[in-house]
Amino acid sequence: MNLQLDTAIAKKFISNSQKIRVMTENWVARNLFCPICGKAMLHHYEANRPVADFCCENCNTDFELKSKSSANGELGKRIADGAYSTMIKRITSNNNPHFFFLTYYNYQVNNFVIIPNHFFTPAIIEKREPLSDNAQRSGWVGCNINIEKIPNSGKIYVVKNCTEIDHHIVVEKFRQTSFLKTSNIESREWILDIMNCINNIESEHFTLQNVYAFEKELQQKHPDNNFIKDKIRQQLQYLRDKGFIEFLSRGNYHKLK
Ligand SMILES: [Zn+2]
Repeated sequence: MNLQLDTAIAKKFISNSQKIRVMTENWVARNLFCPICGKAMLHHYEANRPVADFCCENCNTDFELKSKSSANGELGKRIADGAYSTMIKRITSNNNPHFFFLTYYNYQVNNFVIIPNHFFTPAIIEKREPLSDNAQRSGWVGCNINIEKIPNSGKIYVVKNCTEIDHHIVVEKFRQTSFLKTSNIESREWILDIMNCINNIESEHFTLQNVYAFEKELQQKHPDNNFIKDKIRQQLQYLRDKGFIEFLSRGNYHKLK
């Protein structure tokens, strides 16, 4: 995989954002494979298609590409995306594309991450301030994706710190997350919340008490639920059944992914 962006193809474009868009899309079209079926090439949609940028014609799956410059390769906290209302509608109707996130520096790709669409919930989408009266699209409200709220297993690296990750590992990691594909957004939110709690526990071994420590935080996110501890135990069981964690003994767990 050549990590260099082809600057020559963007010469005829004037604005920097257009140049970057053309170069990064070209890089994806040349280098990426489908993380679901492993097929080598992705089809690049015509420009300005509102929903997605790429499609795997083999398994009929859509992908959206976002990119940003990052000298140290850090993904950052947020990724700016399109209209807030459109994004929420896409998530709640389960027709969101999967997400490609590329960071680059000096026209070289330093990180490339796939975020499967089943990691998207309205909770990670933030409303931006409406555009000012002077703006061309005055009143338009865009959104940010808060990627800090996405558990680690939802950030599947294809390139990490300028190093290519083996294709089979990428496809396998993607497959391991497919248990999240549930039409029920609320239950998906709960699973992701507990996955995040587990991510935030530093050691590989942890106890039920370690997860109970997030009770207050979870209560704030789910004010209508009066049985947070019960919910925590239920989600831990679910994550065990899905191979995400292992039960060692009563109240003792081990992270698997
Ligand atoms: Zn495919």
